[in-house]
Amino acid sequence: CPWGAPSTTSISCSLADVMSEQLAKELQLEEENAAFPEVVAAAEGPFITGENIDTSSDLMLAQMLQMEFDREYDAQLRREEKKINGDSKVSISFENYRKVHPYDSDSSEDEVDWQDTRHDPYRADKPTTTPRRGFIGKGKDITTKHDEVVCGRKNTARMENFAPEFQVGDGIGMDLKLSNQVFNALKQHAYSEERRSARLHEKKEHSTAEKAVDPKTRLLLYKMVNSGMLETITGCISTGKESVVFHAYGGNSATEDKVIPPECAIKVFKTTLNEFKNRDKYIKDDYRFKDRFSKLNPRKIIRMWAEKEMHNLTRMQDAGIPCPQVVILKKHVLVMSFIGQDQVPAPKLKDVTLSSEDMKKAYYQILNMMQQLYRECNLVHADLSEYNMLWHDGKVWLIDVSQSVEPTHPHGLEFLFRDCRNVSQFFQKGGVAEALNERELFNAVSGLNITADNEVDFQAEIEALEKMNEDHVQNHGKKLSTFSSDGDPPIYDE
Ligand code: ADP
Ligand code: MN
Repeated sequence: CPWGAPSTTSISCSLADVMSEQLAKELQLEEENAAFPEVVAAAEGPFITGENIDTSSDLMLAQMLQMEFDREYDAQLRREEKKINGDSKVSISFENYRKVHPYDSDSSEDEVDWQDTRHDPYRADKPTTTPRRGFIGKGKDITTKHDEVVCGRKNTARMENFAPEFQVGDGIGMDLKLSNQVFNALKQHAYSEERRSARLHEKKEHSTAEKAVDPKTRLLLYKMVNSGMLETITGCISTGKESVVFHAYGGNSATEDKVIPPECAIKVFKTTLNEFKNRDKYIKDDYRFKDRFSKLNPRKIIRMWAEKEMHNLTRMQDAGIPCPQVVILKKHVLVMSFIGQDQVPAPKLKDVTLSSEDMKKAYYQILNMMQQLYRECNLVHADLSEYNMLWHDGKVWLIDVSQSVEPTHPHGLEFLFRDCRNVSQFFQKGGVAEALNERELFNAVSGLNITADNEVDFQAEIEALEKMNEDHVQNHGKKLSTFSSDGDPPIYDE
């Protein structure tokens, strides 16, 4: 080869070297020290070691390189944070300077310190020098607040309070004295730089919000299109707290001998944990996931939500309940059939005006589906309401089942009761005279016979049942328990 043998140096080293100088000062924060030992960056990267790397596309290669670069940049950032923070109780965060905002960092809580002080550079060193009256000392030794040397040093020290990305050099070490004029000019500059970078940052944030997903997810989606599984991703149908849903036209490559529906919905579970934290209770106590839960990192937990939705949809599909059909699950991205037509999603029940005929029909259908869900699928929807039911093809379709649990979940019956309340209120308000009240509906769905005639007692009985079941589970092992009064074993027994 006329150009010599290709170098085998690892990219990770060379990029890190190139970047290290610029980066060296820029970064801060704590966390993840243990989770990110220095080697991890190079070893764990899916784009270096990952299987199935598709290198046939230039765009893809470019994106992979960019992401690799970003990750190294961030890894370097973390090392800097670690160095700066050391063992200090108070730590600073460079979270905002990361290229790839990681799934599992909740570092906003850590970004307290310098943000609190940076808008007021005068506050930090207030007590040390000039008293109110503006001078110290006596006679010819008097030192006023205008003393050049004191003031100059003070100004230099104040530069420490500029935003961290602002390079101030080692002025303190060399006893640099800045005149007020110079300091003020610098301060002005530092602030406008800060504002500029904040604006840039905002833009960046904004653009990711527009694209609605992080780079890794985008790559995942890109791969789906690239592999021919999807034809095109046309746009975003919904942006919720926990997920973003896209519409796509199905491609022609049948994966795993499944035919891809002509139109698909892609549900991307949000990879920031904040919204999921308060959903712990749905999954933590679900014995199907219990053993896994404690060992998982946050990213994996999010994947479990997607996985849970997939399993639950599959059960529903098997029972013949109208719901999206699962196409494929990749990490936190679930592809399913689209309920709707020509890119227009079917309306939610809350948004559609039905004739009283259809309203009644919908009610009985839902009553039926709730029973099927409970008895055949051994599931409680747990977020059932007019928001998660679509009206399509003259019938109701159930969606959004990632939080669905089995009835024997420690709070399963409470969830069911809540579902019943939503449903019965919706239809009673909607003028369906036949609609059962929430307690009757609960009994009709569960087959239990709770006789309390008011909400409070009813609720209490539900909780007592749950408690009884928990004790039973404790004593007899998890498989024995079902609420079903007719003695049917749970259909799904993992
Ligand atoms: P979230 O947890 O954000 O509520 P959902 O599963 O309810 O997630 O999806 C949000 C919205 O996206 C739904 O209200 C519905 O309008 C739309 N949507 C979700 N899945 C589908 C689908 N398979 N077909 C059509 N629209 C869908
Ligand atoms: Mn929903």
